[in-house]
Amino acid sequence: MKKKDIIIIGSGIGGLTAGALLTKKGFKVIIFEKESLIGGRALSFNTSNLTIDSYLKILSNYNMMIPFSEPELKTIFEKKKLLGYKLDLGYHAIGGGVLSNANSVLAELNNHVDILESYVGLIKENEYVFPFLSKIDKIKIFPNILRLLLVSEKTLKKLDPISITETINKYGRGKMKLILEIFSRSITTINNLDLISTGEMFRSQRNLYRGSKPVGYPKNGLESITEKLADYIKQNGGKIYLNKKVKKIIIEKQKTKGVIVDNKKYLSDIVISNTLVQDLFKIVDEKNFPKDYTKNIKSLKGTGSLCAYYSLNKLDKELIGKTFHFIERNIGIDGNDTVGMIDFMASSPDSGIAPKNKFIVQSYIICNPDEAKNFEILKKLKILLDKNLEIIIPDYKKNLNWAIYPAIWHLDGVAKTIENEKPDIKTPIKNLFIVGDSVKATGIGFNCALNSARDLVEHLSKK
Ligand SMILES: Cc1cc2nc3c(=O)[nH]c(=O)nc-3n(C[C@H](O)[C@H](O)[C@H](O)COP(=O)(O)OP(=O)(O)OC[C@H]3O[C@@H](n4cnc5c(N)ncnc54)[C@H](O)[C@@H]3O)c2cc1C
Repeated sequence: MKKKDIIIIGSGIGGLTAGALLTKKGFKVIIFEKESLIGGRALSFNTSNLTIDSYLKILSNYNMMIPFSEPELKTIFEKKKLLGYKLDLGYHAIGGGVLSNANSVLAELNNHVDILESYVGLIKENEYVFPFLSKIDKIKIFPNILRLLLVSEKTLKKLDPISITETINKYGRGKMKLILEIFSRSITTINNLDLISTGEMFRSQRNLYRGSKPVGYPKNGLESITEKLADYIKQNGGKIYLNKKVKKIIIEKQKTKGVIVDNKKYLSDIVISNTLVQDLFKIVDEKNFPKDYTKNIKSLKGTGSLCAYYSLNKLDKELIGKTFHFIERNIGIDGNDTVGMIDFMASSPDSGIAPKNKFIVQSYIICNPDEAKNFEILKKLKILLDKNLEIIIPDYKKNLNWAIYPAIWHLDGVAKTIENEKPDIKTPIKNLFIVGDSVKATGIGFNCALNSARDLVEHLSKK
């Protein structure tokens, strides 16, 4: 291999974004992906030819399971009820809508993805409002939004150790309190407001305000983004190998030399790991790293949720394209209250993820990773998800084709909490870098993964 060859481990959104942008900069990129599909947790798959076993296997590979479904999952598959659908692993909304971070990366590659986008409404006890903020609310909070957009990084750093609980106690009055309670949770996927950093929350929120509308969903699913990135890599000389698990990262004298795949050595100048950071030491010998670094990485925790996909045979046109938050109080889980979303963006026939005259409603409710494995808690959360959909569509059960409830305990690689110190893109090993949502970068989830890759490309381009 010539100089500046780069090996990327994993084709999640972080690995693909880094791969595409580095290809554009003239680096020679090879991606090894252990699964048979690209995308990582931003995965879309055609469910028509899927077997129940392969579905459950994909989910378990990504720290997920299906605790409930309607009818039984076995029946859903036997009756081929998933024919013609294209699903993601679970509920996905991309922060920032049409002008999302994803489209700014694609613009650099002279490409674009069509994104359905929405403001957010609120489901109350017996009714719903859309949008959440009235014109008067917007006028009232406009000075706060302006301040947020203009706030310096120095001020945000000062707010990093301040919890949202403290911020609410100081500034949370009226609707502002509700905004902070709901948006802090939905942006970070963490219910416990004591754990959410005000600085990080504001950084992520600012990132959203710079988009067009707060949330979006790409037409034809998440794969419309990941495929465009992968196509760019392949069309410009890069390579993506599927079903190729990296067994080991080779390190000599504190410097990375390449990787081992299928007992073969592949040498490169730079190695970028896109794996969950907690899995890093499964493929690299931890004795090469300072003890504090390894200890911190091993202690990092992700976020969790219970999602629901409802397929409806009928849907009021008024709802199509809209998204709603809800908050449920005093339910006895970590953080006491929980927030969720019920989303009709993907119900649009333009979403391309459901057969004609079937409408997908995506939803999720937040819990922590341990709660996402606790059947009794999940039962409680499922009731709350169904109840909130019922407030919007009282007779939805009459029109229910099927419902699948995926639970996930690694939605975000690393939760952006005050306790978790996300690692930097640079590691203590020379020429070994990490990208993905486990890494320190702007935004949460999908956007964090993508932005970590942009940060890395900027760093490597400067070198
Ligand atoms: C159900 C669900 C719902 C979500 N909802 C949202 C949402 O609404 N909004 C949002 O912003 N984010 C959401 N997320 C989070 C978002 O999907 C992730 O933040 C993002 O996709 C993570 O990308 P990544 O690049 O960090 O890594 P990943 O997607 O984890 O990709 C890592 C890749 O590395 C591969 N790999 C690992 N080890 C090896 C190895 N040894 N050799 C080769 N390949 C390897 C994996 O197979 C994988 O493809 C959700 C996630 C899930 C699962």
